[in-house]
Amino acid sequence: MQYPYRSYAEMTSTEERSVMVLLVDDQAMIGEAVRRSLATEHDIDFHFCSDPHEAIAVAENLRPTVILQDLVMPGMDGLILLAEYRATPALRDVPIIVLSTKDDPSVKSTAFAAGANDYLVKLPDSIELIARLRYHSRSYIALQQRDEAYRALRESQQQLLETNLTLQRLMNSDGLTKLSNRRHFDEYLEMEWRRAAREQSSVSLLMIDVDYFKSFNDTFGHVAGDDALRQVAETLRTSCSRSSDMAARYGGEEFAMVLPGTSAGGARLLAEKVRRAIEALKIPHDQPRPGSLLSVSIGVATAIPAVGQDSLTLVEMADQGLYQAKHNGRNQVAMLDGTLRAN
Ligand code: GH3
Ligand code: MG
Ligand code: MG
Repeated sequence: MQYPYRSYAEMTSTEERSVMVLLVDDQAMIGEAVRRSLATEHDIDFHFCSDPHEAIAVAENLRPTVILQDLVMPGMDGLILLAEYRATPALRDVPIIVLSTKDDPSVKSTAFAAGANDYLVKLPDSIELIARLRYHSRSYIALQQRDEAYRALRESQQQLLETNLTLQRLMNSDGLTKLSNRRHFDEYLEMEWRRAAREQSSVSLLMIDVDYFKSFNDTFGHVAGDDALRQVAETLRTSCSRSSDMAARYGGEEFAMVLPGTSAGGARLLAEKVRRAIEALKIPHDQPRPGSLLSVSIGVATAIPAVGQDSLTLVEMADQGLYQAKHNGRNQVAMLDGTLRAN
């Protein structure tokens, strides 16, 4: 089979590599003999390193799929070199066949203990040498491919997780104000309502409506209107003091705040704080009179839900409060009959 030529540097994937042998041996004669043994094998790329002190650097650069390693070399013990290969991250898993003159079980045992994968007595028969080189090389490449596949899998799982989180955020948030949207509000209120029913705790709701907002748009334009809504939203967001408090855009220029575990008194205080904070934005308006500031009216409702009762009850109660606040002149907080107990 013909393969288009590509250098090893260009081959990013181990699957494209054939057998890449690095022989480390101080004797040039051994180098020549092994080279001759492999000369007819076109899928085997042979490299020879006669200086054991350079072996690690050469191997790191070459990335062999199998190393043939001499044991006795001047100035360097092959066993120490074995340990060094194993301590080098890029070479940690490369199969190493020890090539030794000694056919001695105790030497073999020390070599295996130092990290060798195989042991051949010099000079091996070329059929056996080639078979072992191919075998070790193939299992190394398979290992690399498996590791690469796992890495890619982990990466795509991570990406999927991140995409899901982004999607979730987008699904739950309002495009203009980045507050929770109506869908998320409905879900959250329902969840907290049920929890409060189970625990017989109180849950409060603020319905917040911008005053004279149609006229604001008519006077200052929709772009200024959108900007005002963003500022109101930001104020609501920062007014949430507990992690369970949730501010949402209910629709148009209406907002809502769900306050789980909050009493009527606490909700009223927070509503008043929100009303003042909106005033403090000092957004100029010409309603109800020239020189006015943009304001909101807020309806407050608190309930300890009865089991089986609809959470819409709370929305309706807060809406009645809001209606009352509008009716009484706007820029104020209203709550029907003090604490309301839904029933
Ligand atoms: P009130 O004091 O009784 O609440 O009067 P209002 O004018 O605020 O109430 P109305 O319901 O008559 O008008 C609401 C206005 O809010 C009308 C609509 O154009 C404006 N509005 C709703 N959504 C948006 C939006 O996303 N951007 C802008 N700029 N305006 C919006
Ligand atoms: Mg309004
Ligand atoms: Mg409105």
